[in-house]
Amino acid sequence: MSRYLGDDFLLPYLTPNNTPFFTAGSVQIQFCEDCNHAQHPPDDICYACQGTNLVFAPCPGTGRVESCARVHHPIHPALKDKVPYVIAIISVDGAPGCNVQGNVINCPAESVEIGQKVRAVFEEVEDPTTKETLKVPQWEIVTNA
Ligand SMILES: [Zn+2]
Repeated sequence: MSRYLGDDFLLPYLTPNNTPFFTAGSVQIQFCEDCNHAQHPPDDICYACQGTNLVFAPCPGTGRVESCARVHHPIHPALKDKVPYVIAIISVDGAPGCNVQGNVINCPAESVEIGQKVRAVFEEVEDPTTKETLKVPQWEIVTNA
């Protein structure tokens, strides 16, 4: 699969906290076992109760566009042939109050609107430096919702 922003575009730098999100091939959100708070980005401590009993759990892989930006000006030379593209804030089903950022792909940039239902799709790529396989979550519009 060719990546939306190009196969040479930057990959996420994996840390213990973000590895599930970028490698699982499902939408992994961090939950607090003490108060059930869902949070993203993941961290070492719960933002609601300051607890440290945090676990990752897969969510259904659907969500809603809460905000989006259509990028027409390439901010980097590697993106000059990729504009326009869409960056969106997605509220994640199964993780109340939890939003993630991603691109909305497989559609014209002009067709993305706030309120649309989306589902996660994953760009699988091997990091050429670390040789780790990433499955970067992206989003596409659910047309039969
Ligand atoms: Zn908590």
